Amino acid sequence: MDFSFTEKEEQFRQELRTWLAANLPDGWLQGNVQLDKESKAYELFLRDWQKKLYEGGWAAIAWPKEYGGRNATLMEEIVYQQEMVRVKAPPLINYVGLHMVAPTLMQIGSQQQKDKYIEKIITGEEVWCQGYSEPNAGSDVAAIQTTAVKDGDRWIINGQKVWTSFGHVADRCFLITRTSRLEKKHKGITVFLLDMHQPGVETRPIVSMDGQKDFNEVYLNDAVAYDAEIIGQVDEGWNVIIALLMHERTGIGGQVFTLEQQFHDLVALAKDLNDDDEPLIKNPFIRKTMVDLYTRSRGSLLNYYRNLTKQLKNGHPGAESSMDKLLVSELTKELFAQAISMQGHHGILWKENALIDRSYWQDNYLYSFGQTIGGGTSEIQKNTIAERILGLPKDMGR
Ligand SMILES: Cc1cc2nc3c(=O)[nH]c(=O)nc-3n(C[C@H](O)[C@H](O)[C@H](O)COP(=O)(O)OP(=O)(O)OC[C@H]3O[C@@H](n4cnc5c(N)ncnc54)[C@H](O)[C@@H]3O)c2cc1C
Repeated sequence: MDFSFTEKEEQFRQELRTWLAANLPDGWLQGNVQLDKESKAYELFLRDWQKKLYEGGWAAIAWPKEYGGRNATLMEEIVYQQEMVRVKAPPLINYVGLHMVAPTLMQIGSQQQKDKYIEKIITGEEVWCQGYSEPNAGSDVAAIQTTAVKDGDRWIINGQKVWTSFGHVADRCFLITRTSRLEKKHKGITVFLLDMHQPGVETRPIVSMDGQKDFNEVYLNDAVAYDAEIIGQVDEGWNVIIALLMHERTGIGGQVFTLEQQFHDLVALAKDLNDDDEPLIKNPFIRKTMVDLYTRSRGSLLNYYRNLTKQLKNGHPGAESSMDKLLVSELTKELFAQAISMQGHHGILWKENALIDRSYWQDNYLYSFGQTIGGGTSEIQKNTIAERILGLPKDMGR
């Protein structure tokens, strides 16, 4: 497929550029917006940014127009991602709602659920989190032990979730529970659209090694949900779980554009840093590593385009998104490791002591380890590629 952009797509790019120039938060492009990520002010800043995107018609461009989207084509989505990465736009506080929950609701939610939740997701009024992982259920999601027991038209939920990103700011949770113990563990699971603002729900932050409190433990002690908050059928939630995961993996593949931008940043760093009064970029060993990183980043971009071509033909994403996720997350880790290594002994300085870019490289290096785990670990992606793309025998462990 030809991936050059048409005149119409370039016009679309121009429209977005103009909007971004007028609407990015003051001082954003100059790197002057420095908010404490743990503060309420940062949460409000991100909520405000999503509201602005919504008002400008840029919050969920791929959605149908009836839900506030633009019915954007896949090519327009690529343009959108390239432009957002170019200006290093503020992150989406409601990423889970916009890219995972709402598309699943559109696919399998009841009309009443679509009416109740989707608009509040796109406006940013309600932020969502994903309650899948538990202390003993991660890669093996079906091993969940959180229970929901019927009590009239209510369900009483008890258990614990872990690694819940955005849990501390979320208004609702896409929560998976065990409602029956049947022969097959993929049966007997029910998915709830849980209200997080109730006495039975407690979130406790987990501090990750980069010092951030991005994710949480969520304790459910007699939390209450209602029949109307079940998505799909009681005991038949496995298909709902998979539907959401497909949307999650597709979104992650788009990080290939972030990787491209980060590679350009790395080249700029290699030009800035000196070794024996010569810019590092002239050092043959550095050049060799940079060429290697460039070749593989470029390869993952082309692979992403190849998978996209297949998606355009089939009309839906396939197991190939596992390839994108694996390649991009592993390369991102290598890229930031290279940046730290190029800084020599300054590489271990962090936060306010960092000498370069306010510890941008250190923060992202530490964060990159999580990227190879969240959304399914690299080993699980390899299993998917082996079984569903290469047609190899099934993983013996399952
Ligand atoms: C940044 C980040 C954000 C996250 N956000 C969320 C969130 O919002 N909501 C949520 O529910 N969860 C979230 N998670 C949790 C994430 O989904 C799990 O950590 C992940 O699925 C792995 O599960 P686990 O941690 O239980 O590890 P385990 O599944 O116990 O795996 C441990 C190790 O064993 C390997 N392994 C496991 N099974 C196999 C196998 N069959 N074959 C080969 N190797 C195997 C794994 O690759 C890993 O190396 C997040 C995690 C991170 C890092």
